[in-house]
Amino acid sequence: MSKKLLLLSLTFSLLSFSCLWGQQSRWQQWVSYQMEIELDVATHQMQAVQNLRYANHSPDTLTRVFYHLYYNAFQPGSMMDLRLQNIPDPDGRAKGKIPKLTAGEMGWHKIHALLQDGDSTRYEVAGTILEVELAKPLLPGDTCLLEMKYSSQVPVTIRRTGRDNAEGIAYTMSQWYPKMCEYDLEGWHANPYIGGEFYGVWGNFDVKIRLDANYMVGGSGYLQNPQEVGHGYELPGQKTMKPVDGKYTWHFIAENVHDFAWAADPDYVHDRMQVPDGPELHFIYQPGKGEENWKKLQGETVKCFQIAMARFGPYPFEQFTVIQGGDGGMEYPMATIITGNRNFHSLVGVMVHEVLHSWYYLLLGTNESRYAWMDEGFTIYADDIIMDSLFQGRSLNPHSRAYSSYDILVNANRNEPASLPADFFQTSFAYSVSSYYKGCILLHQMSSIVGQECLDRSLIRYYKEWAYRHPEPRDFKRIVEKESGLELDWYFDHWINSTNVIDYAVESVTKKGKKTEVQLKNYGTMPMPIDLTVILDEGEKRQYHIPLRMMRGAKKADKWLGQFEVLEDWPWTHPVYVLELDVPLRKIKKIEIDASLRTADINRKNNVYPQSPEKNPFDKNRKN
Ligand SMILES: [Zn+2]
Repeated sequence: MSKKLLLLSLTFSLLSFSCLWGQQSRWQQWVSYQMEIELDVATHQMQAVQNLRYANHSPDTLTRVFYHLYYNAFQPGSMMDLRLQNIPDPDGRAKGKIPKLTAGEMGWHKIHALLQDGDSTRYEVAGTILEVELAKPLLPGDTCLLEMKYSSQVPVTIRRTGRDNAEGIAYTMSQWYPKMCEYDLEGWHANPYIGGEFYGVWGNFDVKIRLDANYMVGGSGYLQNPQEVGHGYELPGQKTMKPVDGKYTWHFIAENVHDFAWAADPDYVHDRMQVPDGPELHFIYQPGKGEENWKKLQGETVKCFQIAMARFGPYPFEQFTVIQGGDGGMEYPMATIITGNRNFHSLVGVMVHEVLHSWYYLLLGTNESRYAWMDEGFTIYADDIIMDSLFQGRSLNPHSRAYSSYDILVNANRNEPASLPADFFQTSFAYSVSSYYKGCILLHQMSSIVGQECLDRSLIRYYKEWAYRHPEPRDFKRIVEKESGLELDWYFDHWINSTNVIDYAVESVTKKGKKTEVQLKNYGTMPMPIDLTVILDEGEKRQYHIPLRMMRGAKKADKWLGQFEVLEDWPWTHPVYVLELDVPLRKIKKIEIDASLRTADINRKNNVYPQSPEKNPFDKNRKN
């Protein structure tokens, strides 16, 4: 452990200490893994010892604990297999593959022994969950040592993890070890592995991986023995040690994270680049086909970190690794594993998305299985902003793909509440749009309620108050309420917990002598405050804001509007709102609701006076 690392871990300990005492009401469990794995690259099997210190910070006495055994999903007849067979639109990457797995291609974990402080426990494997009866109850505040001996077989790559992916990467090692399930205020989360989304216990990982010396390894954590294993990790000119029995042991330490992933391949090459005042970046990929793009990607990754750190909060680790592998893109602590044979824009796109998960997944560790919209949605929001800046999009709405996808979902009558747990949606389509895009719209749309400046401050405050913890929806809601001074329950109740839709209209515009009466009408089922733009014939633009009465106030500033006048509030029970403009009708060129396109209004044609046959501005983004 370097001196810097020691200092870092001291800061983390102080941090968890202050969290523990500053926020008694929100305890969180703690783990410390010590794992030694030997991977046989001929049989694709691992022999492993896992010593896990588990601290019970809850006020409850625990008599049972649960582990995830993710590899067991990759067996014919598993819950993942049956879910894929029965959902109308299964993930194309996994569809039809599990039933065809042979004995040598399946994944499995076999538990050989599990001791609690030296005493045998009783345990049972139930699909992808290991159910353990503790030898002794674990009292509040107590810690125990769980010593496990197990072996595993790495499955062929079907979803996220496995061997020999489509691009020829030998080992993508994610969701690869028996992982303690999280126990929180809501109890155990021993979710079977069916489709996706994860949740883990905060803690430390000390991982030793032994395999053939020609394989290069990259992953979460700081490599402790670069001089021993070489492969470009050693200092320039430094000699590396001879392998023992043709093998190296790679030793990694990752602290204050909630998962650990790695990848290994004999063909990997390794580049590094430093983010000024940020982490050292490592790029681990295959030479050949996509190499040029992987070289160009490196500078873009530096820029991505710089923008993200300035806008969403510091990146507190000293390292981040972009690894080629897997079956798409997936986020892990201090690393991402992405497929590499893509065009440049797509490669940058997937990198940006996964890097942003360092904020909305790694540091703000929400329970993704329950609140995927907080994890994927916030990441998409941040990722759109960075992509817009990297590729100079300068679009009026950098999140337009979210709005057009939502539009398609609603029109297909497939909308489901975003609050559903990730595995419980009726279709993969509804899951994807709800978690990725409705989560993104939640934020962008919210900027029209509280103002962009307030939303930006809220995201930073959310980071400061909730990093290294498990924030829940109400925690984020309270932050924005405190920053804005507005009441926002209604917004989450409608947008996240229901499928209600927004549809406001400029219903009528009539001459009232030298004045003009405007009637607005709510045709939708979800209320929203209104930004109303009035353009006069000499080009003058007037901005008005109509808050909802139940917000108990109005936004103070909003850079999308500039100067605006706050009008009388709108009680949501009233379908019609009447306002009088101090301008004669003949002088009015245009009146528009939500000209900045931030609300997910399902019918934009009626937002404008005079109505024009103009298409929905998001229609151009429609795929079908
Ligand atoms: Zn994501």
